[in-house]
Amino acid sequence: MKPKLFITRELFPDVIDKLSQYYDVEVWDRYQAPPYEVLLKKAKEVDALGTLLTDKIDCNLLSQAKNLRIVAQYAVGYDNIDVECATKLGIYVTNTPGVLTEATAELTWALLMAAARRIVEADHFVRWGEWHRLKTGWHPHMMLGVELKGKTLGIIGLGRIGSRVAEFGKAFGMRVIYYDAIRKEELEKKLGVEYKDLDTLLQESDFISIHTPLTKETYHLINEERLKKVKPGVIIVNTSRGKVIDTEALVKALREGRVKAAALDVHEQEPLDPNHPITAFINVTLAPHIGSATYETRHKMAELVAENLIAFYEGREPPTLVNKEVLKVRPPGFK
Ligand code: NAP
Repeated sequence: MKPKLFITRELFPDVIDKLSQYYDVEVWDRYQAPPYEVLLKKAKEVDALGTLLTDKIDCNLLSQAKNLRIVAQYAVGYDNIDVECATKLGIYVTNTPGVLTEATAELTWALLMAAARRIVEADHFVRWGEWHRLKTGWHPHMMLGVELKGKTLGIIGLGRIGSRVAEFGKAFGMRVIYYDAIRKEELEKKLGVEYKDLDTLLQESDFISIHTPLTKETYHLINEERLKKVKPGVIIVNTSRGKVIDTEALVKALREGRVKAAALDVHEQEPLDPNHPITAFINVTLAPHIGSATYETRHKMAELVAENLIAFYEGREPPTLVNKEVLKVRPPGFK
């Protein structure tokens, strides 16, 4: 009998076909995430789970899932999973690093440029008739933005995505500085970037782009106190996780004009309430968590989920295992 696998959203048919050679696969085919009660019920029935960042995989669920051996996450971030608890229980957790770096870095750059050159505002200006009403096709002061060349880009979290964003910054002729939990001297030399402590990065950056995971340490890393230290007129871009920024503090800094503009792909509550105060700012560009949303990347992510599940099935270490310590608790496989 094949082990049972529950996948919490539709992936790609070719990937499901491949997985079906190893697993008895059930796919949740609705657009909305399965409610927690459904997830809990399924987790108790299966040997493996394929999850998304919208699925809460907490210790309550994991400890009741007696046959569950692996949680294969369809994302690089895994802040929705209690990894520590999974490890204690001998449950493998995998993610999809690397394959989404390019797409997320490109989206970061699209947002950064949209904020710098007021693209969304310009679209509204044309579409909703303001340009037409002004009865002038061109004016020296119309829709002025800021240039990138010669400006300072501050990267918080020089990992895979942060490094790629840094490369784009260099290509635009920017000075790139970074802050990370651990200084990365080799990478610094390779990318031509400078390490700064967080306060200095805040003070010197014209643009700040955030690329840390969401952890206890990075929760509200950008808070009211830190937003008081930014260079006046800074533009902030966040494609990491919404909770890395205290949104209330950001709203205040935008209102006071200390932050010139922001571009946010991720939000403290997703989906974002359209009545949230942040939506009132025309100088804030908003996206619905689409960092990895390209056809190419989403397929590669699904393939990596499958590779992890198949490796585990075959008794091999999954290629992108998050909790390596689990290897000491239980060997991979269903035996
Ligand atoms: P990564 O390679 O692990 O990079 C994260 C970087 O942040 C690492 O350099 C890490 O340092 C650093 N870091 C960790 N804790 C920190 C702290 N307390 N202060 C400062 N820096 C810290 O991950 P990635 O692949 O670039 O992805 C980064 C994050 O982007 C993911 O965790 C995910 O939440 C988010 N993401 C969002 C989307 C989207 O759709 N918007 C798509 C993909 C990813 P160490 O190497 O020393 O740990």
